[in-house]
Amino acid sequence: MAQRRRRPPGRSRLLAEPEILPDITAAIGGTPLVALDKLADGVAGRVVAKLEAMNPGGSVKDRIGLPMIEAAERAGLLKPGGTIVEPTSGNTGVGLAMVAATRGYRCIFVMADKQSEEKRALLRAYGAEVVMCPTDVDPDDERSYYRVSDRLAREIPGAWKPDQYTNPANPEAHYQDTGPEIWDATEGRVTHFVAGIGTGGTISGVGRYLKERKPDLVVVGADTEGSVFSGDTPRPYLTEGVGEDFWPDTYDREVCDSIVRVSDRDAFLTARQATRSEGILMGESCGTALWAALQSARQVADARAVFVVLLPDSGRNYLGKLYEDEWLRRVGVLGADERVADYDWRVTDMGPVVRHESRPRPSS
Ligand code: PMP
Repeated sequence: MAQRRRRPPGRSRLLAEPEILPDITAAIGGTPLVALDKLADGVAGRVVAKLEAMNPGGSVKDRIGLPMIEAAERAGLLKPGGTIVEPTSGNTGVGLAMVAATRGYRCIFVMADKQSEEKRALLRAYGAEVVMCPTDVDPDDERSYYRVSDRLAREIPGAWKPDQYTNPANPEAHYQDTGPEIWDATEGRVTHFVAGIGTGGTISGVGRYLKERKPDLVVVGADTEGSVFSGDTPRPYLTEGVGEDFWPDTYDREVCDSIVRVSDRDAFLTARQATRSEGILMGESCGTALWAALQSARQVADARAVFVVLLPDSGRNYLGKLYEDEWLRRVGVLGADERVADYDWRVTDMGPVVRHESRPRPSS
């Protein structure tokens, strides 16, 4: 499975030397696929991780910043000296802030206060301004990070809101690049694609591309307990970056063949175990996707099955939470006398799996 590096179309033409990229945004994409053979020991097929933490800004969200900004520039919505305002859990902010730095835009990010302090500090490091909002309010509440970002985008002259939850450039980036990269790197042998769902951009774009290439490919969505995608009643949960309390336009409800519901505990402890056994420092939502991938993979007896699971970011963003045993005990993810090393993803079974037929239809 040799990894072929894809360069964003047109960028290499600017180069005098092929090794020297014109700016940091040209280094986005082309992330490696790595087999997780130790963690998936006993699974008939293979479980392979796509490491999105290896993007220059450290997450899968680097992939959507540039296409959203370029589309807005073309449409005249973002002009020189303009301001980008976006509600983001952090990673999209980095993707946007990185491009904004190279093009001289001001950035204001609006975040829910459950997000880690590391993520806020990171955005400020790129020169962005960060506005914090309460997590436990309704999305329509004036104090919610969605509504506050709407108000700022209205009130600030020259402001533009990318709105990753409705922007078609979000899933399109994954259709154009992430999907083909997985297809090329596996030489078409991928049989299952597994990813968490936030805006749904990743799973919708990659899933659409891969299903066009291989119609019987199976797409598995990983959803956090307390999020709507698996039909749960919205309620607060700990996992950052995935799950929603509403249905984003960027999520294609037809793309998933099944959706696995994952608890905070299984997500967090799978991430911790995978870091120890595979040497890949991974974030919380990686644990969500990985647990769903491992549970799905162990139900498939076919040795030719290739499960590609997309791991969105690095554990570096969560050192004070996910990687802090005392914090895990305080929030109840770890029992008082339990150790992380005691956890094995095989001890828990899949909960409700939402099948394609039973998914709720769009209300509008
Ligand atoms: N994991 C993390 C850490 C994220 O920041 C995001 C984006 N919110 C996702 C997963 C989900 O990706 P998507 O929005 O493309 O569904």
